[in-house]
Amino acid sequence: MIQVENITKIYNPKKIPFAALKGVSFEVQDGELLAIVGKSGSGKSTLMHIMAGLDTATTGTVRVGDEVVTDMKSKRLNQFRNESIGFVFQQFFLFPNENVFENVAYPLRVMKKSPEEITTRVNEMLVKVGLEDKAKSVPSKLSGGQKQRVCIARALVTNPKVVFADEPTGNLDTETGESIEQLLFDMQKDLGTTVIVVTHDDDLAAKCDRVIKMKDGNIE
Ligand code: ADP
Ligand code: MG
Repeated sequence: MIQVENITKIYNPKKIPFAALKGVSFEVQDGELLAIVGKSGSGKSTLMHIMAGLDTATTGTVRVGDEVVTDMKSKRLNQFRNESIGFVFQQFFLFPNENVFENVAYPLRVMKKSPEEITTRVNEMLVKVGLEDKAKSVPSKLSGGQKQRVCIARALVTNPKVVFADEPTGNLDTETGESIEQLLFDMQKDLGTTVIVVTHDDDLAAKCDRVIKMKDGNIE
């Protein structure tokens, strides 16, 4: 279970303070598919980044299982992010000079898995996302939908507890976006992963177990 308790985030505390999150609390059950919706600027990305340990909260706590993410020191936090969290970004953030195989292998290399295990797991994952014939391609040779599939494969290759997807279909055409969503949902079902997805898409939100709506740094 994930427990978010009274999270606040003040940007620019010393200059012109801006409260992006004003005391957000909620829980997410294991294996749940949760959508976060709300207008641009309502604090969705800030909340996801804090939950995933990519950014720090000003006050409040985030617990994942029995661990307090908001208390983790940097060494444990890096390990936690790499092993327990998958993050699918709208802007992909792939390594441009590494091929698809190496991009997906990255979190496993950080975990110091054996070359044999890396090869097996990456190849399995590439089959799942339908990119087995692109293993040696660099990202610039891929379409947007293919890049997002690489991102999903990289996020899931460690079999993380929680996957965050921040507007994963925002840069894709409708048809490609729908196939990416389906992929994410199928994996959530197959692997029992908790998935938290930020979306502007009502159809996508309607397919989730629960929808949380953000407004001006609060849950509405
Ligand atoms: P959303 O993802 O819902 O569009 P964000 O979490 O990105 O919203 O941003 C919430 C608010 O915080 C916005 O008003 C945004 O301008 C502000 N904000 C986001 N990041 C920063 C930052 N690094 N510094 C200052 N303000 C920020
Ligand atoms: Mg955002």
